[in-house]
Amino acid sequence: MRYFSTRGRAPALPFCDILLAGLAPDGGLYLPESYPKVSPEELASWRGLPYAELAFAILSKYIDDIPPADLKALVDKTYTAETYRFARQPERAQEITPLVWLVPEKLGLLELSNGPTLAFKDMAMQLLGNFFAYALEKRNDSLNILGATSGDTGSAAEYAMRGKQRLSVFMLSPQGKMSDFQRAQMYSLQDANIHNIAINGMFDDAQDMVKAVSNDTAFKARYKIGAVNSINWARVLAQIVYYFKAYFAATRHDGQKVSFSVPVGNFGNICAGHIARQMGLPIRRLILATNENDVLDEFFKTGCYRPRSAAETFVTSSPSMDISKASNFERFIFDLVGHNAEVVRDLWKQIESGEAFDLSASPYFARLSDFAFVSGKSLHNDRIATIKMAHERYGIIIDPHTADSLKVALEVTEDGRDEEPVIVLETAQAAKFSATLEEALGHSPSRPAELAGLEALPQKVTLMAADIEAIKAFIAAAVDGSPPAQI
Ligand SMILES: *Cc1c(COP(=O)(O)O)cnc(C)c1O
Repeated sequence: MRYFSTRGRAPALPFCDILLAGLAPDGGLYLPESYPKVSPEELASWRGLPYAELAFAILSKYIDDIPPADLKALVDKTYTAETYRFARQPERAQEITPLVWLVPEKLGLLELSNGPTLAFKDMAMQLLGNFFAYALEKRNDSLNILGATSGDTGSAAEYAMRGKQRLSVFMLSPQGKMSDFQRAQMYSLQDANIHNIAINGMFDDAQDMVKAVSNDTAFKARYKIGAVNSINWARVLAQIVYYFKAYFAATRHDGQKVSFSVPVGNFGNICAGHIARQMGLPIRRLILATNENDVLDEFFKTGCYRPRSAAETFVTSSPSMDISKASNFERFIFDLVGHNAEVVRDLWKQIESGEAFDLSASPYFARLSDFAFVSGKSLHNDRIATIKMAHERYGIIIDPHTADSLKVALEVTEDGRDEEPVIVLETAQAAKFSATLEEALGHSPSRPAELAGLEALPQKVTLMAADIEAIKAFIAAAVDGSPPAQI
């Protein structure tokens, strides 16, 4: 299996090369030459497989440059009940992504946030960490991950890479802008290969610094700078698996269909659902939920994609969905325009010059219905009301992002009256967002016992000004073997 760029001007490469590359050199995103189809017989044979075996079956269709025995070992090591141990019902942890029915066989909640950082990003990031370590070992090479985080991505990356040979993480975070819990999660890691850098600025400043360092090609090559954001194909690939797992958990036979409701940020999670459907998984609808930042709801309703500026982006109580521009959306558009890289290149030329594109008058917009998306949005008051309602009606406590997807799911299915089951993806645990939970329920959510004293642990972080040269000097010193003093 070879991978191509959505912009059509990069050489086709096998999996391990694009794993380490992240973004394609022509600025596009990598996609497989085709989506492997799953026959009805094969689908039937997968029903009942444990998570790791199902993951192996699906990943084998996309990866042919890792020997099967090695791939199996990597997947087995990643998807264990020990890593994904924070399930609501601890005895179900071995299911990895337990499905909980809110209304039997009608409305389900898919637990995706039972990993070490209590957010669904652990599902893919843990596999990415193991893939990186494996590929670097084979190539006798090393990688220094540089990233910026507003909360969930940074901690998921650090917990996936900590203690790994040949890998270091340099994670920039905006000083004082994360929750105490999120800060403690990251800064309490004492591993020598994890470097937390708190920037005196906003998330966008941190992001701009990552871009500036990565655009210095000489520095990037000399210090082997890599990335873990969701433009990396391996993250999307890992997420395809739980759509299949959830489908089998929610249905009795393969003649049935299900719908999924997904809270959207960078369009990575729902892109995996779209690909699962292209592979032949019987998905009726993909329900896309946004918060106040409704760029994608607007596109699916009008055909116009208009990324917002940082100043137009709302800071909300579902912060991981506060995006102005969805980086994985290019993968979906590539499919929508019939794999025409030239069209994608033209559209993204408009986007990169700060404009919008409008497909409402094009034949592509008419094709949109083939892809079975519906969309909606959820605002702060909806989120609060939905958390409260879920607690009262279903006896379950959900986080603000999951509340957005539940709200939109109930709206588009007219309160759960669809024939097919609707599965709401749970992307984080409530314990991460106690302020919003207090507002909704009047008390803070409980957290796993082993995380009880998290905020009291010693923290390791370096404070820095938003200065590109200073960051480069910090990375150079750490990589060359003389890490500067930490505070
Ligand atoms: C990252 C994140 C999202 C958005 O997922 P995308 O793949 O970026 O669309 C939603 N909820 C939570 C809790 C997240 O951490």
